[in-house]
Amino acid sequence: MGSALRGPAGPMYPYAVKVTRVAAYRVELPLREGSYNWSEGRSVRALDSTLVRIETDAGLVGWGEVCPLGPAYLPAYAAGARTGIAEVAPSLLGEDPLQLARINRAMDAALRGHPYVRSAIDMACWDLLGKATGQPVALLLGGRFGEAVALYRAISQEPPDRMAGRVAEYRAEGYRKFQLKVGGDPDEDVARIRAVAGVLEPGDLLVADANGGWLVHQALRVVRAVRDLDVYIEQPCRTYEECLAVRRHTDHPFVLDEVIDGVEALLRARADGAMDVINLKISKVGGLSQARQLRDLCVTLGIAMTIEDSWGGDVTTAAIAHLAHSTPEAFRFSATDFNSYVTVSVAEGAPRREGGAMAASTAPGLGVSPRPEVLGAPVIEIG
Ligand code: MG
Repeated sequence: MGSALRGPAGPMYPYAVKVTRVAAYRVELPLREGSYNWSEGRSVRALDSTLVRIETDAGLVGWGEVCPLGPAYLPAYAAGARTGIAEVAPSLLGEDPLQLARINRAMDAALRGHPYVRSAIDMACWDLLGKATGQPVALLLGGRFGEAVALYRAISQEPPDRMAGRVAEYRAEGYRKFQLKVGGDPDEDVARIRAVAGVLEPGDLLVADANGGWLVHQALRVVRAVRDLDVYIEQPCRTYEECLAVRRHTDHPFVLDEVIDGVEALLRARADGAMDVINLKISKVGGLSQARQLRDLCVTLGIAMTIEDSWGGDVTTAAIAHLAHSTPEAFRFSATDFNSYVTVSVAEGAPRREGGAMAASTAPGLGVSPRPEVLGAPVIEIG
């Protein structure tokens, strides 16, 4: 370890920390309900997640996680994440992981694009910065707003009555925000939205998320057919231009998700008045550093956010909790506790849903301790 400064309240702040080793682990996360189904017939039964461990010469260890929702959701896939991590890792050796902007520049220089590859590394560096300074990541991201973060529950695509039947089950778990997976046959989707809207209680919130599954003419039929209902429409079509065409023909509040993959997309959509809410996924934009930038822009521009990731287990859920908890409450449309959807816990210390909400850990860093017996042997070791 190099020289050290002592902060006013924290422990030793070791500067000149160096990355000495990067390891990655593959973990399978089976879904509690057996499968998760969304638009265009896409479905997964188990998530293929990757945990990244960054070791330093100061003895600090940081953890990150990246977990695409299968290979056909976003342009990302689990084996690609691991291949990319192995590609980038050698360039991180000897770099200071506490200097987040510098480490992101080093990743820029080593790999063009592939935000999901970089996300787990960036997340692990935030964990390290928190541990080095003795502070939870939420504090480093801006502070802590409120006691807890309200969560939404995704309702996997099924026939309308079965989706409506899920609402009472999830409400009993504390959820009051429901996101329906639509983007299938438009007539059946109208029936899905109507069936679920029919069982809502005052204070419940409903989002119909097509995950880009409709063509414009189909989306226009759906939004007209549910015009009398209080429902948000999320990412009706695959491209930005198609979504904008739908947006211009509906007065439903509108969420953009898959097409908002960075600052430029956000600013363009804002200038076009293309949405009221965005869905901010950590790995979609390249990590907590980039997600924080987008989050802060959204707060400045008056745009609410669903704060989450493409999927993940305990480490991802912890990172979501820190980002969401450090976001002013008025801008937190919702967030996701992915670790409650799966049967495997990869780490101790992760947030647990309570009354439909979760809270960021107050321990240093992300506040998680991965379980060696779940991780097994690393599939990548560099350094
Ligand atoms: Mg979405």
